[in-house]
Amino acid sequence: MEQIRVRFAPSPTGPLHIGGVRTALYNYLFAKKNGGTFILRIEDTDQARFVEGAEEYIMESLEWCGIKVDEGIREGGNYGPYRQSDKKEIFRQYADMLINKGDAYYAFDTPEELEGMRKDLEKAGKTFIYNAELRDKLINSLSLKENEWKEKLEKGEPYVIRYKMPRNEDIHFDDIIRGHIVVNTGTLDDKVLFKSDRMPTYHLAHIVDDHLMKISHVIRGEEWLPSLPLHIMLYRSFGWDPPLFAHLPLLLKPDGKGKLSKRDGDKMGFPVFPLFWPYGETAKGYREDGYYPEAFINMLVLLGWNPGTEQEIFSMDELINAFSIDRVGKSGSRFDPEKAKWFNHQYLQNKTNTQIAIEFRDYLRSHGYQDDIIRLEALVGLVKERVSFVKDLWEQTDFFFRAPDSYDQEVVKKRWKEDSAKLLIELRSQLENMVDFSAASTEPVIKAWIEKNGYNTGAIMNAFRLVIVGTLRGPHIYDIISWIGKDETIKRIDKGVTLLSK
Ligand code: GLU
Repeated sequence: MEQIRVRFAPSPTGPLHIGGVRTALYNYLFAKKNGGTFILRIEDTDQARFVEGAEEYIMESLEWCGIKVDEGIREGGNYGPYRQSDKKEIFRQYADMLINKGDAYYAFDTPEELEGMRKDLEKAGKTFIYNAELRDKLINSLSLKENEWKEKLEKGEPYVIRYKMPRNEDIHFDDIIRGHIVVNTGTLDDKVLFKSDRMPTYHLAHIVDDHLMKISHVIRGEEWLPSLPLHIMLYRSFGWDPPLFAHLPLLLKPDGKGKLSKRDGDKMGFPVFPLFWPYGETAKGYREDGYYPEAFINMLVLLGWNPGTEQEIFSMDELINAFSIDRVGKSGSRFDPEKAKWFNHQYLQNKTNTQIAIEFRDYLRSHGYQDDIIRLEALVGLVKERVSFVKDLWEQTDFFFRAPDSYDQEVVKKRWKEDSAKLLIELRSQLENMVDFSAASTEPVIKAWIEKNGYNTGAIMNAFRLVIVGTLRGPHIYDIISWIGKDETIKRIDKGVTLLSK
């Protein structure tokens, strides 16, 4: 079988959208599943849209996601350069080849002239398309006499090179996801292949590069499907076999209406980029929001691909095993921010308490607290089910580290009774005598004491929790007092009794 070679070919025009990460991921999984090669190619021939820092951002994003590049600008390889601006001259040679074959031509129309023509036609209720119908009325090497256009070239007048799209021909081609497609060339325009800044356009550059890099499958976003007829024509003009194509469905907004955008993320508070974007208009990232890369990837892979089973949690190796392009759907997938959190929750629950404790230790330091790892492990065990992110552990555990300095007034009003102070003082003396302060030891003693005296469990426990925590939240109270220890428990009871009895 032919060697599988796929590429992810982003343009460094800003942060990489998660839809782009998904494209990279599907390419990567497809390559690895089939023993192939995954290539990262930087398509930076559009100088006007180039953004400093974007190239590094792309590479760092893939690295964070665990998508390993086999060939690229960092990794090297036998099919470089892997950055298109590093091989402008090569593209020019291929544009010339098309001109020599008669499949492309020089066009000298200025942007203003084209705009004027567009307006005139619109006034007459027609649309302007630079194509076989109109090209004779425009200024190019097909409409001008040979000596005229040659003179323009010699004088150094700016020009572009356009593809000469045939007037009326059906183009047949196949897409792995969408099946057989037929498009008539009459609906297409003479696309620019080479610009006046002497850079190729995407259309020319990627065809040449895919050919030179021996790409076997082009897996990319659906937004490129309308350009595919032109790409097929270019392959034909060059006399090359095209690769196989798979156009991936869109990632949709949470309400399903249109493409997922940064604005949706800003509005609803979720990131649409893998990493924080620090330049210009900054943007949130999954990494900085506390997501595990494995959870992020797991969430993303299921937006468009389905395994055909009930399984939802997949490691990268399991994905490589299970992935098949035939199970990528045609219709767009709705992004669900809650589901993204759910995935992180699952991955967090599957970590050991030690792993989480090590991460949590860093958050704690930023709040000015520290503790040894064994104690943190125990603490994590008490609360981890309640959180989806390590950073949320603090909200669940702050009262373990510091005594409350105020008490929830609603709770006080409802739960602090005439006899609460007296009961807590009695409870205090029960606890004071205990040597083993584990929950297993304190709980039965307190329960027996309550029972013996015929006290109301709820009333005592609410008052107790109020002085220990400051409000009615947190895990099992006996686990809390065991963790904070006897001295601290006694201190909090004393403080609460004093303050609340005033
Ligand atoms: N540079 C194009 C993009 O960023 C690549 C499209 C393709 O994969 O052919 O969308």
